[in-house]
Amino acid sequence: MSYDPNNIFAKILRGEAPCVKVYEDDVTLAFMDIMPQTDGHVLIIPKAAGATLMDVPADALQATILTTQRLARAVKTAMQAPGIYVAQMNGEAAGQTVPHCHFHVIPRHPGRSYRDHATTMADSAVLEANAQKIRAALAE
Ligand code: AMP
Repeated sequence: MSYDPNNIFAKILRGEAPCVKVYEDDVTLAFMDIMPQTDGHVLIIPKAAGATLMDVPADALQATILTTQRLARAVKTAMQAPGIYVAQMNGEAAGQTVPHCHFHVIPRHPGRSYRDHATTMADSAVLEANAQKIRAALAE
């Protein structure tokens, strides 16, 4: 999978497309997934260009997994989730749809439904409300 500099996450990083941001530092960015599989679904990306896990420079990847851990803790608290599913796809054959490396942090509750991957657009007010809970948990 080659890197397309006009992929949607590259546009978000350049400020050319909006996102509901929950966390940012010099190397990484975390924002709400616009088609969440469960409420509170967050994406974590390195700012460095790299289509897949295999393409990201080591220092950026280290920072990205640490941000993923940070977000997993915050999402667990914010969404009162007993389980956190972390997913990361590489290549179309694996289900990757956006060619900029990213980690999914998805809260899971027993017995609650789980929407299909990248199918159902969320209400923007719901995304913002969940983002506020996650930002609050990050600040604890
Ligand atoms: P993947 O299929 O692993 O590449 O995941 C891409 C994810 O990006 C999917 O879960 C989509 O719902 C999500 N997504 C696509 N466009 C946007 C966007 N503009 N803002 C936030 N999430 C997005």
